[in-house]
Amino acid sequence: MTPEGSSINQDTQEANTTLRALKMSSILQRLITPLFTGPAEPPRNKVTVVGVGQVGMACAVSILLRELADELALVDVMEDKLRGEMMDLQHGSLFLKTKIVADKDYKVTANSRIVVVTAGVRQQEGESRLNLVQRNVNVFKHIIPQIVKHSPNCIIVVVSNPVDVLTYVTWKLSGLPKHRVIGSGTNLDSARFRYLMSDRLGIHSSSFSGWILGEHGDTSVPVWSGTNVAGVNLQTLNPKIGMDGDTENWKDTHKMVVDSAYEIIKLKGYTNWAIGLSVADLVESLIKNMNRIHPVSTMVKGMYGITDEVYLSLPCVLNNGGVSSVVNMTLNTAEVAQLQASASTLWAIQKDLRDI
Ligand code: NAD
Repeated sequence: MTPEGSSINQDTQEANTTLRALKMSSILQRLITPLFTGPAEPPRNKVTVVGVGQVGMACAVSILLRELADELALVDVMEDKLRGEMMDLQHGSLFLKTKIVADKDYKVTANSRIVVVTAGVRQQEGESRLNLVQRNVNVFKHIIPQIVKHSPNCIIVVVSNPVDVLTYVTWKLSGLPKHRVIGSGTNLDSARFRYLMSDRLGIHSSSFSGWILGEHGDTSVPVWSGTNVAGVNLQTLNPKIGMDGDTENWKDTHKMVVDSAYEIIKLKGYTNWAIGLSVADLVESLIKNMNRIHPVSTMVKGMYGITDEVYLSLPCVLNNGGVSSVVNMTLNTAEVAQLQASASTLWAIQKDLRDI
């Protein structure tokens, strides 16, 4: 064999070896050359949503569309529903900028900065409120310790109803400091109030300033003394605003706020979009360290003459530590009395709760 022939054979052998190596390596190995093979960095802005019902999914989608998290974890006890929701969202990944994970095991929530709790059981016909709360306490006894175990430094935002009582329950069960346990509280009630008031005035919601405080729901307190547009206090224009005997009947707007959840539930079976949007707004203030003020449920013992350990909504400054401070509103005597009545209503339920 000529030396030339031997070199041709060698070339063929080398080509075959390369071909075999190529055949054995995957597309991934051929496409990408790793430069670093150490463990992956944990996510920096992870948010978990517990409960993938109507409210949980509205919160999840609002958080995704506002690009607030680098990772979103979903948890529920209904495995098929959970997997279905996860897959459906993951198939939208092309249009999102967040990694989506889900599991019924709370390991999936590890390293969350914020955990939004929307899980819970619904009121059954004829069931007392206390009984519903006690059933939800039993659900929370399973959920809250798992959250804290996997994300000891997180901030918990409670949405499940009755939200003020369940926020108190979460605080007790979690062992977290009070500023890291927040209830969505009257954030939604205030948004509804701002929409209805501004609609009547023909302006955008963001241009009407008004606060609903106290309990989320029936005994919520509209702060008529603080309603204003562009710095003009509406009570100076109509001293009877919000009171009986006001010929313009502005009080009706607050009634509409209180009734709206019942009305929407009657019409479509549940409420979800507005609560989802409002929770995403809270998550933004927390995750982006904004120091924005929101009406959310916080531990109010010692404020406005309230002596019991109850969670109620007041204007709270939210940043990446949770509730950093509470604004002392200049409430009139009637408004303070209403807040105290809210506190008494809640304490009447809380004092009889077992196992927290
Ligand atoms: P839903 O029944 O559609 O969803 C509840 C979800 O919780 C279900 O998917 C269920 O499987 C899950 N769940 C139950 N037990 C669980 C557990 N142990 N662990 C994990 N997941 C569990 O209800 P919804 O319409 O989404 O409402 C959820 C809650 O939000 C209710 O309590 C509702 O009253 C409340 N809510 C609050 C506000 C507010 O302003 N705070 C507004 C609207 C609704």
